[in-house]
Amino acid sequence: MQRAEPQEFERVLSSMCTEPHPAAREAAERFLATNPGDPGTYEQVARLESEAVEMLGAITGLSEPEGYVTSGGTEANIQAVRIARNRADADDPNVVAPEHAHFSFRKAAEILGVELRTAPATDYRADVDAMAELIDDDTVCVVGVAGTTEYGHVDPIPAIADLAADAGTLCHVDAAWGGFYLPFTDHRWHFGHADVDTLTIDPHKVGQAAVPAGGLLARSADLFEGLAIDTPYLESTSQVTLTGTRSGAGVASAVAAMEALWPEGYREAYDREMANAEWLAEQLAARGHDVVGPELPLVAADLSRPMTAELRERGWRVSKTGADELRVVCMPHVTRSMLRSFVADLDWY
Ligand code: PLP
Repeated sequence: MQRAEPQEFERVLSSMCTEPHPAAREAAERFLATNPGDPGTYEQVARLESEAVEMLGAITGLSEPEGYVTSGGTEANIQAVRIARNRADADDPNVVAPEHAHFSFRKAAEILGVELRTAPATDYRADVDAMAELIDDDTVCVVGVAGTTEYGHVDPIPAIADLAADAGTLCHVDAAWGGFYLPFTDHRWHFGHADVDTLTIDPHKVGQAAVPAGGLLARSADLFEGLAIDTPYLESTSQVTLTGTRSGAGVASAVAAMEALWPEGYREAYDREMANAEWLAEQLAARGHDVVGPELPLVAADLSRPMTAELRERGWRVSKTGADELRVVCMPHVTRSMLRSFVADLDWY
């Protein structure tokens, strides 16, 4: 039988993951058989996880960060909602989020028995007044997105944090994708800019770590207390993570990527990818398409369905927004020459 090979990245324009940095790839391989879920046995990788959390804290403006390396943004968002639900004393808990919040919040709501209330957005960003209308005494968490999945837009996080503070709820920021770009922008999005309580930031996306390496951070240790489950047969006495056995490869590769790239490497990546996204937006606009963005390196445009189907036929991995626009994510593996040949294929059509 022929050996299965992973896909090449040379035509991938749809993914929020990318090729790992060489140091991250090497670290992932070395730590493949380690489990940070059992820190008493796997001490080295447990130490690396503390380093990962420290570095994620540095990136998100938090001097004494608490948190862990999750399986991805989904787990981090579920856990953030779980923290909020367990901490509050609500009979019928609800979470208020903008309509563009990632679908992982729907999973969180269903699993945790929490109602997800979504507010319409204005100009692709959270509308704080519309969110305020949904808040009541049973609201346990208010969510803002820093780098939306479909358009790469950034919600007004300080205003959302104020809303949460006024309502006496937690404020969670989902920066799963945007978190490694935003330090090089003027956006106000992290713990240092607003009263954010928990935040999702994924090394396995723009952080250039191997999959799986997501990140959940909290402003203080007490926020995690409500998640603690006793672990009688392990050296450690309790566990706050969602899964038990976890990927040491993800943890080690996250540390290796951040050591190699924070901050200059990530800044260079941001500059390059933003320039690519702006170039693509101009090319699409010049061809008469309505373009959204880029606010971060992500471009959406109103290409017709047959056109998108033809691009897929030609091997391009492209995806659509909920409103049926073509969506191109300018990740680190997306080069200008790739985009040139993509545009050439568009012109052919
Ligand atoms: N949050 C945002 C903003 C995302 O864009 C994504 C995925 O693209 C997620 C959460 C979920 O992350 P994961 O697929 O790593 O679980």
